[in-house]
Amino acid sequence: MAENETIIEDKKVVTLAYILKSDDGEILDETTPDDSLLYLHGAENIVPGLESELVGKKVGDKFTVHVVATEAYGERGDSDLMVIERSEFPEDMDVEFGMQLFDEDDKGNLVPMWVVENEGGKVTLDFNHPLAGFNLNFEGEVLAIRDASEEEVEHAHPHGADGHEGHDH
Ligand code: ZN
Repeated sequence: MAENETIIEDKKVVTLAYILKSDDGEILDETTPDDSLLYLHGAENIVPGLESELVGKKVGDKFTVHVVATEAYGERGDSDLMVIERSEFPEDMDVEFGMQLFDEDDKGNLVPMWVVENEGGKVTLDFNHPLAGFNLNFEGEVLAIRDASEEEVEHAHPHGADGHEGHDH
């Protein structure tokens, strides 16, 4: 099969450029030429509503995808904030908006949370993903598609653009 006929399907590593907007047109996220999105198809690396729309696309294909909140990061719960002292974090840690942290629940499961405010010695954490509650509107283009290595399939994520990026786990 010729290179340009490779399509997006399971076990492919895909590179995307996109701009993500809310229904109001606010830009929520945007890739740059130096920082495009790399993901392993079929491994739930990206929101399911986007992943399913990309199946069968080729390099150079453009896409416009509307994903309702429930198919993206879910609805926003309103009592999911937690405030803790800044001093509970290491002093040299950059505690900034959007930073993701993990807490452990009673059963030892890791629960993700995000920093929404760091002010006056208090840090506010939100158990909602920052994009929870938003319908997502992706406009983008498929930049590259390649076969995933066995190791990448096993890890359920890509290892860099060429598949050889070192990392420790
Ligand atoms: Zn890995």
